[in-house]
Parts: sequence; C-alpha cells; structure tokens
Amino acid sequence: MTNLLNFNQQQLADYFVSIGEKPFRAKQMMHWLYRYGITDLDQMTDIAKVLRAKLADETSFTLPDVQEELISDDGTRKWLIGANNQKDGTSSSVETVFIPEDDRGTLCISSQVGCALECTFCSTGRQGFNRNLSVSEIIGQLWIANNSLRQSDGYDMLPPGDRIISNVVMMGMGEPLANYDNVVTAMQIMLDDHAYGLSRRRVTLSTSGLVPQMDKLKDDCPVALAVSLHAPNDELRDEIVPINKKYPLKELMAACNRYLVKAPRDFVTFEYVMLDGINDTVEHAHQLVELVQHVNCKFNLIPFNPFPNSGYGTSTPNHIRVFRDILTKAGYIVTVRKTRGEDIDAACGQLAGKVLDKTTRSAKFIPIEVM
Ligand code: SAH
Ligand code: SF4
Repeated sequence: MTNLLNFNQQQLADYFVSIGEKPFRAKQMMHWLYRYGITDLDQMTDIAKVLRAKLADETSFTLPDVQEELISDDGTRKWLIGANNQKDGTSSSVETVFIPEDDRGTLCISSQVGCALECTFCSTGRQGFNRNLSVSEIIGQLWIANNSLRQSDGYDMLPPGDRIISNVVMMGMGEPLANYDNVVTAMQIMLDDHAYGLSRRRVTLSTSGLVPQMDKLKDDCPVALAVSLHAPNDELRDEIVPINKKYPLKELMAACNRYLVKAPRDFVTFEYVMLDGINDTVEHAHQLVELVQHVNCKFNLIPFNPFPNSGYGTSTPNHIRVFRDILTKAGYIVTVRKTRGEDIDAACGQLAGKVLDKTTRSAKFIPIEVM
C-alpha cells in the first residue's frame, strides 16, 4: 500500500501519472486531505468512483496514532504521537504542542524520535537517537492537531478558511535538518496553496547548526530560520552543543549570512538557553554581541527548563535581565520566553515522549514568542 500522506504535490502528481491518471488529481487530493482534513475516499466526491476503488486497493492514508491529548488551563495543548521504536518494535512517542496566543496559534512539531546531537542541556538529546519520522508522521502532526482543534469548543464555529494554526515551528523533538528530505517534503505540504497554504515566514525551522543542510535549505525550501546558539565562543559551544566541533561558530555565522540572501525574513533568530553560571555572565553577553556583529539577527533567550539529573540550573531572573539589557543596548531585539502550560509538562525544545523517558518530569513550558 502506498501511503499518500508521504507525498508532496509533485510526488502525488507523479503517482497519479504512474497509474494512468491525470496529474491534476494531485491538487484535488490535497484539497481533501489537508484543506478539509478528509481521508475517507467515499467523501472525495469529485474523484471518479472507479478511481476511488482503485485507490482503495492500492493506497492508504495512514496517520500516526494519537496516544494521548492533554489540555492545559491556559489553552496550550499537547499530543503524544505514537512512533514505534525502530530497534525493538516497542512503542514510543514524540510530542506535538499547540500554543494559542492573541494574534496567532503556533504548532511545535517533532522531526525525529530522540536526537543524535547530544546537546548537554536537552532531554531529547539525552535519550539518544532512535529514528527519523516519515513525512506522514511529520505532516500528520499538523493534520491531527488541526482536526482536533477544529472539533473543539471555541474553535468549532470557525469558517474553514480561518486558520487556527497560523504558525508552525520545527522545534519539537529531534534535529530537523538531520532528517532533511522528510522535513523538507512535509514543509512543502505546509506551504502548498492546495494544502495548508502557510507563508514561508510563518514556518520556522530551528537547527543546532548543520551548515551543509542550511545551505541546501535556502535553495530547496527557504523558511524562517532559528539557530540554537547557546554559547558565544567555540570553547563553550564545543562542550554544550557538540556539533560545534564539526561546524564552529565562524562557519555557522557565515552560513547564516548565506541563508539570509534567500530567507523570507531579513533576520535569523538566535536561540540562547540561559544556564545558570555556564553561559549567562556579562562577559558572555559582550562576546555574543561581538560574535553576531555581521549577522542580521534577533535573540530569543530561553530560561533553561530543568529535568531530572540534568546537572544544570536556570539563570536567575536578574541575570537574564542584565544579559538581555546588554543585547538590547547593542541594538538587538530580544525576547525572553515565558512559562506556559506547566500543568501538562509541555516544553517545546525539550520534549521527551512517553516511553523512552520514564522519569517524572517537572519541566515547565515555554511558548514561542518571537516567531
Ligand atoms: N534540534 C533543534 C530543534 C529542537 S530544540 C535545535 O536544537 O535547534 C528547540 C530549542 O529548544 C533549541 O533551541 C534547543 O536548544 C532548546 N532546548 C533544548 N533543551 C532545552 C531545555 N532543557 N531548556 C530550554 N531550552 C531547551
Ligand atoms: Fe538535538 Fe536540538 Fe536537543 Fe541538541 S537541542 S540534542 S540538536 S533536539
């Protein structure tokens, strides 16, 4: 069975041609699947019955399982999405988080089960890498969240053209650029006018800094870019974001500038996790200003979200303020993420899934403010 949820428009068109059909069927199919959230062939009334019967025999629309849906007092929602463990077939999961705000609704999507990059302060990194998510598992998170929100109180009266999810951030579990092909195909579906029709500036990809893939992304699918910086010099970044040993800061800054030539926004967002006593001193802030001086950028300071045995603490509010003020005085726009959705343990950027991490989590949730 061919799972049609793994295909972007071009691939769907190729599929239809391969079974002797016209390529425009791809657009029709995308309208049903993504605009209307329908995967039941019987309801796809503008597709001829004979073709529907053929599709029923040869194809599927397989979405990942929803293991659990949690709703926070502040409206934040989290879905635990089933994603079988590749090595032993046991069930594990990734997380998807919806953050409603006054002027937008942001969905935070996962790209891998675990992560191989081992940033020392990240609970996903501590789990190690299990496997890449497929296209259908990535776009399926948007499909599931969208359909579930549409059926919820407060959203159910919205006309179909109104978007509940206005922004997507690839900031859940995993390093999206390490699952390049599947993530790009899924983002193409997000951007496709026949599917979700999101603008490139409303889809943000966050990377720890895979330079060759950043260069490729600017040509293949230039969405808004966030880069996880977290340290202002190579010595410290080598330690807490180990991929820095492969792509050190000088190369990373150059890659950001190359990206900006094609980016839908004229800045990169640098994410900077505030780790008490590690990267949060006045000296670090000054080094940071120096480091980014030739890059058009904004900053997003993220108070560290503690998890059991992390070995790190969150910077004090005072240290965060002082750090922020130095960047602001140097002329940069800086946001500090606030805590939200605490009661459902939904922390975008340090999500752990259900089965792999059995510890009781005390993580706090931080919404995406700047995107
Ligand atoms: N792998 C990608 C995207 C997922 S992580 C990346 O690293 O950019 C999204 C953001 O959350 C990253 O900036 C990441 O460094 C940050 N993050 C990870 N663990 C965190 C923690 N415990 N507290 C606060 N932010 C964290
Ligand atoms: Fe992977 Fe991002 Fe976590 Fe680093 S911060 S381990 S790249 S998910």
